[in-house]
Amino acid sequence: MGDSSVVHNHVNGQELDLEDGISAREMINQGNGLTYNDFIILPGYIDFPPDQVELTCQLTKKITLKAPLVSSPMDTVTESDMAIAMATRAEAFENDVFNLKEKHGFCGIPITEHGKLGDKLVGIVTSRDIDFLDDKKCGDVKLEDIMTKLEDLVTAQSGVTLSEANHILQKSKKGKLPIVDAQGRLIALMARTDLKKSRSYPIASKDDNKQLIVGAAIGTREDDKARLALLVQAGVDVVVLDSAQGNSIYQIDMIKFIKSNYPSLQVIAGNVTPSVDEKNGPIVINLRFHTVVTKKQAKNLIEAGADGIRVGMGSGSICITQEVMAVGRPQATAVYKVSEYARHFGVPVIADGGIQSIGHIIKALSLGASTVMMGSLLAGTSEAPGEYFFSDGVRLKKYRGMGSIEAMDRKDAMGSAMDRYFHNEEDKLKVAQGVAGCIVDKGSVLRFVPYLQCGIKHGCQDIGAKCLTRLWEMMYSGSLRFELRSHSAQLEGNVHSLFSYEKRLF
Ligand code: GDP
Ligand code: 5GP
Repeated sequence: MGDSSVVHNHVNGQELDLEDGISAREMINQGNGLTYNDFIILPGYIDFPPDQVELTCQLTKKITLKAPLVSSPMDTVTESDMAIAMATRAEAFENDVFNLKEKHGFCGIPITEHGKLGDKLVGIVTSRDIDFLDDKKCGDVKLEDIMTKLEDLVTAQSGVTLSEANHILQKSKKGKLPIVDAQGRLIALMARTDLKKSRSYPIASKDDNKQLIVGAAIGTREDDKARLALLVQAGVDVVVLDSAQGNSIYQIDMIKFIKSNYPSLQVIAGNVTPSVDEKNGPIVINLRFHTVVTKKQAKNLIEAGADGIRVGMGSGSICITQEVMAVGRPQATAVYKVSEYARHFGVPVIADGGIQSIGHIIKALSLGASTVMMGSLLAGTSEAPGEYFFSDGVRLKKYRGMGSIEAMDRKDAMGSAMDRYFHNEEDKLKVAQGVAGCIVDKGSVLRFVPYLQCGIKHGCQDIGAKCLTRLWEMMYSGSLRFELRSHSAQLEGNVHSLFSYEKRLF
């Protein structure tokens, strides 16, 4: 090894072949459909720390997310709690008084002269002021008698920065910090808990007016146009189309209708489960599982004007579509094929279903997906709908496919929407495309999602990609190298040879 030329590209004047692994294109085009477990990514050169990795990405042509993570539109995964936790992960400090009041009853209400935001602040009432009040006496108690008065209040002036506010809250040890203008009028109320959240999760999907981005599902029938008009009035940012098969004339006509009537509205095509959020009505991005897996399907939807495409058919953990319908595609191949086509038109792809780990998220992104959609990974978190229960000492939550008989048999607003969707009036015999099961407790999304983000950053660092755009450049140029994994390679890549072990992830 004394010969320094050995460490370079040449040995004895002859060039060494540094070619290693294969490109994504070569890997996918070798024929067999691949899943995420079938391949591995070869490491690259690292010259930056993981926290410098930038995960900004596109959900649709116009909607940017700060992390490539989307929750599945399923009744055991996403209702308002999950939607809000996913969308905000830092609802942050724009929380207004009225929200607070609605959320917490009497806790932490600033009192103003005429009871409105923008009026002069006179005091604050928090839970600690009313905790020991006798219920019966509450009606007689005047706010001014229990509130902490202005002269004793710690407030901040408008224009205060996040870190200054943080500092004030830290020093005062109070739960709320009213923000007032020069005239003492209440502008906003910051909460200690929100600041704690925003410090840990400074990521929120907001539009230009700092409103959370909201999506909703609509069908492709005539009466859905009226629903669409109402959604637009309510300020929806993105709609997802619901029809039995993504590549259908109904869906294509609806995309055209939306694009000509509401040109700025973003449309995600694919298929949708209509869902009614129990608390807030239709707020969740709802797409269904028969989505796009071939270039031709994608072509029709993109031509019609789709701003985003959801890829995956039968790859989900609760899916039996491939078994029952004999139709679908292994997910890694589907993601690469559709993304590679859609990118020529600037249409981002959501890799939906079959994500079991951070590694799978990184693989989906490395094959061209802009975002990933997760069902089982987020089911079982405290923000997922449903109650925990115990079985054999393990804390569990229900998780079921939207095409399971159990979900299709729902008798509420969602159930009837699904009847319509599955055309259940006409064909009484239902053909299940999913199963119902349960999944272990994962704690809060507010901890789990940051773990996912952090893991993705570490993966990108190992690959040598400082942002997702760079990752895609590397992949399409062929400089990102892959390798297929034999069955034994897959075993080797997992924990093995131990009698027992504990798998703590974070
Ligand atoms: P929490 O909702 O119970 O956590 O309430 P806080 O921590 O906000 O307030 C605790 C107590 O301090 C209450 O009695 C408040 O009325 C009183 N307090 C006094 N000065 C302030 C102030 O500047 N800000 C707030 N938020 N509370 C104050
Ligand atoms: P997971 O992340 O659990 O692997 O997959 C979740 C995805 O499976 C959802 O986003 C949705 O696309 C799909 N899905 C949900 N319910 C069903 C179902 O009943 N049948 C099928 N085939 N797919 C489903």
